[in-house]
Amino acid sequence: MSKMEVKTSLLDNMIGVGDMVLIEPLSEDTFIENLKKRFDHNEIYTYIGSVVISMNPYKSLPIYTAEKVEEYRNRNFYELSPHILNIFSFKQDNDQCILITGESGAGKTEASKFVMSYVAAVCGKGQEVNKVKEQLLQSNPVLEAFGNAKTVKNDNSSRFGKYMDIEFDFKGDPLGGVISNYLLEKSRVVKQPRGERNFHIFYQLLSGASDDTLQKLKLDRDFSKYNYLSLDSATVNGLDDAASFRTVRNAMQIVGFMEDEVQSILELVAAVLKLGNIEFKPESRCNGYDESRVKDKNDLKEMCELLGIEQSVLERAFSFRTVEAKMEKVSTTLNVAQAYYARDALAKNLYSRLFSWLVNRINESIKVCLSGFSLNLCCFFEQFIINYCNEKLQQIFIELTLREEQEEYVREDIEWTNIEYFNNAIICDLIENNKNGILAMLDEECLRPGTVTDETFLDKLNTMCAEHQHFESRQSKNSKFLTDHSLPHNCFRIQHYAGKVLYRAEGFVDKNNDLLYRDLSQAMYKANHSLIKILFPEGNPAKVNLKRPPTAGFQFRASVGTLMKNLLTKNPNYIRCIKPNDKKAAHIFTDSLVCHQVRYLGLLENVRVRRAGYAFRQAYDPCLERYKMLCKQTWPHWKGPAREGVEVLLTDLQVPAEEFAYGRTKIFIRNPRTLFFLEEKRSQ
Ligand code: ATP
Ligand code: MG
Repeated sequence: MSKMEVKTSLLDNMIGVGDMVLIEPLSEDTFIENLKKRFDHNEIYTYIGSVVISMNPYKSLPIYTAEKVEEYRNRNFYELSPHILNIFSFKQDNDQCILITGESGAGKTEASKFVMSYVAAVCGKGQEVNKVKEQLLQSNPVLEAFGNAKTVKNDNSSRFGKYMDIEFDFKGDPLGGVISNYLLEKSRVVKQPRGERNFHIFYQLLSGASDDTLQKLKLDRDFSKYNYLSLDSATVNGLDDAASFRTVRNAMQIVGFMEDEVQSILELVAAVLKLGNIEFKPESRCNGYDESRVKDKNDLKEMCELLGIEQSVLERAFSFRTVEAKMEKVSTTLNVAQAYYARDALAKNLYSRLFSWLVNRINESIKVCLSGFSLNLCCFFEQFIINYCNEKLQQIFIELTLREEQEEYVREDIEWTNIEYFNNAIICDLIENNKNGILAMLDEECLRPGTVTDETFLDKLNTMCAEHQHFESRQSKNSKFLTDHSLPHNCFRIQHYAGKVLYRAEGFVDKNNDLLYRDLSQAMYKANHSLIKILFPEGNPAKVNLKRPPTAGFQFRASVGTLMKNLLTKNPNYIRCIKPNDKKAAHIFTDSLVCHQVRYLGLLENVRVRRAGYAFRQAYDPCLERYKMLCKQTWPHWKGPAREGVEVLLTDLQVPAEEFAYGRTKIFIRNPRTLFFLEEKRSQ
C-alpha cells in the first residue's frame, strides 16, 4: 500500500464524502447517493471545493449554537465536518459576497440568517457594534412579515428578491448594511393562488394586536371579514401569527421605528384590508353607459378616516378618471370592472410602496457587507421576471467560477486547460436584448397606442422569437417544436437553464404597465397622513408629469443590471440550497427531485472543474508553519524561503509529484485526500 492510500481517520469519521471533489467514481448516481447518505445522518452540508451545498433538513439541528460557532472560528476548516459557517474561511480577501441560490423552500432565507448571525457573533464587541448587529438581525422579522407569505411550496416563502450588503471596518466589525429589494410580488395583495395566503403581516395584525389597537384601526379579528384574505389556508400549522406579531413589533422597535411610524404603518395595512372590501355597482346613465358607484360606503368611509383622505375625493376617483389628450383634460366614467381594477391597483400600490419605504427606512438605521441573495419563484409575469433573475445569477456563477479559477492559475503560473460548460447567455439574451428581447417587446407593446392586448403581445413574440431555440409557442415556426401542440392557448414556453417553464401571456401587458390612474395618486397625495403623502409623490398636482413612468420590466432589468455589475467586482462564495422533498417533511429524500436540482444547478460540472484544477491552495508561509513538524529538515526552524521548505517537506513525505503544483505564492493541492493525509500525519 502506498502512503497516499493510507486511510485516514478523518475520512473514516466522515459520513459519506464531505467534499464531492473526492468522490470516486464521479457520476450523477454517486453524487446523489452521497448527498442522501449524508442527509440521512443529519449531515446537511457538503462541499464542492469552496462551494457549500446545503440540504434542507426540515427540522432544527443543534449545529448553529454559540459553541459550534466558536469551534469553527478557531479551527482549520478541513478539521471539522462541512458547515455553512465555513463559508468565510476559504478566502481571506475583503470584498466578499455570498450568493445563495435554490428553489422555493430549499432554505435560502434560513441560510442567509445563519450567515448573518455568524457574522454578528464573530465580529467585534462593544456597545455601538452590538447595536448595529442587533439591528441587522432584527431587520429579518420585519422584512419577512411584510415580504413573505405561505405558498404551496413554502410556508414562509420570500416574495421579493433581497440583496444585502454589510460593510465591515478594518477590524472586521460591521459598520452597517444596505438592503435592496427587487420586485415584491404585489399581485398577492389582492389575490392569492389556491392554498396560499396573503403576506404574513395581515394575519399577524389581526391575530396578535390588542383589542384596543384593532379598534383604533377599525379592524375585526375575523379573517373571513376581508375579501383580500384567502380563507382556505388562513391558519397554517406551525405558524403562530399572534406570537409573530409581537416579535415583529419588538423588531421594529429595535430597528429604530418610532411609535408613530409603527402606527402609520399599521394604519396603511388596515387601509388595504378595508379597500378590498369596497364593492361597486353599476348605475345606468342616459347615454347608455354604466357608471360605477360604491355599493356600501362604510368601508370606504373607514378607510378614508384611517388615511385622512376626503371621502368624496376617493369616491369620485372610483367613478371617473381624467385623461389628458392634447393638453386638454377629459373626464371619462369608469364602469364596474374598471372601478375594481382601479381599487386593486391602488391596494397593490399602497402595499408595495409601503414595502419599499420599509426597506429604505431599515436602511437608514443600518446604513452602510456579506451579501445574500434570496430568490423566489412566483407565478405569471412575476415568475417570468424572477426566473430571468435566476438565469442571470447562473450566468454569474458560470462566469465567476471559471473566471476566478482561471485567473488564479494565470497569476500563479500554473498550467490549465478550459472545461466546457453550458453557457446560458443565449437565454439571457432572449429575454433582455435591447432590440428584440422579450422585455423590450413587452415595453414596446405597452407604449403603442391603440388596442394592445396580451394576444397582440404574444403575436409579436411569435414573429420575433419563433426561430429562437429556447422559445416555444403554439405557432412557433421552429421546426424542433412544430409538433408540440400541447401548449395551452395564449401561452409560451421558455427553456430556462433550470428547465422548461410555461408562461401564460395573460396579464403581462397590464402588469408591465403597472397603471395607477392619476386621479387615485392625486387623491392619495392629498391625504392628511404623513406616510401616504410620501408614498405617492407623483400625485402632487404641481409636479404633473405627462411622461410615462418606467415600466415594471424596465425597472427590474435596470436593477438586475446594477446588481450583476456589483457582483462582478466581488469575490463570490456560493451556497447552493437543495430541497429534499416537496412535502416540507423531515427524513424524506426524493431522488428524482434532488437529481433535477443537482442537474440544473450544474453541480456535477462544478465538481469536474474543481477536479481538473486544484482543490486546495495555501500560501507557502502558513503551509510550512502548519506542517513543518512532519519533517526533520524543516523542524523546528526552516531558514530558507518558505517555498523551498514546502518542497523539502513534500519530497520527504513522498507525496506523489502530480498531487502538487508550485505557484508563485501558493502551493496548489490537487486532491483534498492529500490534505487529509497531511492532517492525519500531524495528529499522529
Ligand atoms: P423561498 O424561495 O420560497 O423564499 P427559501 O429557499 O428561502 O424559499 P426557506 O424559507 O429558507 O426557503 O426554508 C423553508 C423552510 O425550511 C423554513 O421555514 C424551515 O422550516 C426549513 N429550513 C430551511 N433550512 C433549514 C435549516 N438549515 N434547518 C432547519 N430548517 C430549515
Ligand atoms: Mg426565502
